[in-house]
Amino acid sequence: MPIFEYSCPACGHIFEELTSASDQSPKTCPCCAFPKAVKILSATRMGASGNSSPAFARAAASTPGCAPRNGFS
Ligand SMILES: [Zn+2]
Repeated sequence: MPIFEYSCPACGHIFEELTSASDQSPKTCPCCAFPKAVKILSATRMGASGNSSPAFARAAASTPGCAPRNGFS
């Protein structure tokens, strides 16, 4: 299965998830457990190696530290 990137709108965490291409359901953020992380369009990954894509760099730059909620683990 392909790997898709998801972005958490609650904490800004970016993570990858193995999922089928037809799976459009939101994912749970592994960082803060927000249940509606949204899929990032994968065009930025085409031929990319490393973190050189502007979209990825922008997302990474705006990603705060992971701060899991107390009591959730
Ligand atoms: Zn999150």
